[in-house]
Amino acid sequence: MEANDRVRVRRHPERGDYSAETIHQILDEAYYCHVGFASRGQSVVLPTTHARVGDVLYLHGAAASAMLNAASDAPICLTATILDGLVLARSVYHHSMNYRSVVVFGVAREVTDETEKRMALEALVEHVVPGRSKDARPPTGTELASTRVLRLAIGESSAKIRTGPPKDSEADHALDVWAGVVPLHLETSAPTPDPEIRPGIPVPDYLRGLGSARRNG
Ligand SMILES: Cc1cc2nc3c(=O)[nH]c(=O)nc-3n(C[C@H](O)[C@H](O)[C@H](O)COP(=O)(O)OP(=O)(O)OC[C@H]3O[C@@H](n4cnc5c(N)ncnc54)[C@H](O)[C@@H]3O)c2cc1C
Repeated sequence: MEANDRVRVRRHPERGDYSAETIHQILDEAYYCHVGFASRGQSVVLPTTHARVGDVLYLHGAAASAMLNAASDAPICLTATILDGLVLARSVYHHSMNYRSVVVFGVAREVTDETEKRMALEALVEHVVPGRSKDARPPTGTELASTRVLRLAIGESSAKIRTGPPKDSEADHALDVWAGVVPLHLETSAPTPDPEIRPGIPVPDYLRGLGSARRNG
């Protein structure tokens, strides 16, 4: 993708990446995103779930959602972040984080076509737990009507990636202070069955190794 003036990373430009492959990978690995929009003269940024299908991101929520209402047909900014490590420098000044993040600018549009809406809802479930949509009951007509889906083309977008150790000044290397990186990653624990679950239903295979499968694409 082309880096235009709006998405060109100026602070640490060497960390900018505009390739669709990188941007898609980060969006796919991140469980959720934040959507920034204007609401009655106020900037609002709210966390929500997303799913990518090709060059399009889908968002969903209650038909009455104020966020989806304000974001529909409006210029929005969506960000997704994966935290990879805490970067501890010898100086307070150089403390940082290792991360992969994406920013997408665009105008979100409501999906009204029923086929696309159903496909988007399936993609949202698959984004969180691949394999789940084959198992779970599809939405009824009433559930579909009470759900709003927005589509946002991944056009103007950027990724920014920080990796590696702290960047202390040469003089600070002489300090008697531990410095380095504490790696971070999301991990799933053993699934806890719903107390109301019918006896004899096993934990599905697609839940095994969910976290690591996601990290490894
Ligand atoms: C987990 C995390 C922690 C951070 N902590 C800090 C902090 O404490 N202080 C701090 O100053 N910055 C922090 N950053 C970096 C921050 O996101 C900005 O990149 C930085 O502040 C520069 O902002 P700017 O407005 O000068 O960006 P500019 O470089 O002027 O932004 C221009 C364009 O570059 C792109 N861009 C900028 N930042 C990002 C990004 N993170 N991901 C994808 N595209 C981007 C956008 O398209 C943006 O419109 C952190 C980032 C992450 C992911």
